[in-house]
Amino acid sequence: MQMAGTGTLMTQSRCDRCSATGPAHDFVSAGSDGTWRVLCSRCFNTEMAQFADLHEFEHPSFAPLRLRDVDDNNHEFHFRSLLLGDQLSLEAFELVGDDEAAGYRFQILGEANAEPFALLARLVQKMKRALSMKHLNDDAGSLQIAEMTLRGRVEWNGDERVRQPCVIVDGRRIEWDDLGAMLLAFEAWQFRLEMLDPSDEA
Ligand SMILES: [Zn+2]
Repeated sequence: MQMAGTGTLMTQSRCDRCSATGPAHDFVSAGSDGTWRVLCSRCFNTEMAQFADLHEFEHPSFAPLRLRDVDDNNHEFHFRSLLLGDQLSLEAFELVGDDEAAGYRFQILGEANAEPFALLARLVQKMKRALSMKHLNDDAGSLQIAEMTLRGRVEWNGDERVRQPCVIVDGRRIEWDDLGAMLLAFEAWQFRLEMLDPSDEA
């Protein structure tokens, strides 16, 4: 069984297997034998557990969680757990308005038979570490890179006409041109750009 895009966040999806509907972040597009179906995470995990002969597997599901960042702003996270063969992936999504690309996102991977709450605890620690950092300064409406390191996530900017990314830094969406303007503060400086898997620590 393969897995494709994770779907969009704010739209509703419907499971092709159990007909459950819910927020799209809890659904995946799964392909087997050349056909693609939209599955809720529970159905995806049920099928994956059968496929991987993990008969003891129970689908973990976690209630949303609110965390405060270093500026005392609240961030509400929703969780999705997916069994990926012998690994269990746990993701946290921050749902920000209608912008499907924005907001913090975190992922952690563990053994398929790991205790789900232990995995959740590790993920929450990772989230807290990230929320305790600020990479951007908002100086009278003009954004600046606060220090020497910028951590974030690459997303597609959603515009079909121009193939361009945007980045999510401190959980906020930064357009490519605005990132460029911020980098001009470092004209003639060197930089190192390193890509990291979503489950790695940035
Ligand atoms: Zn389902």
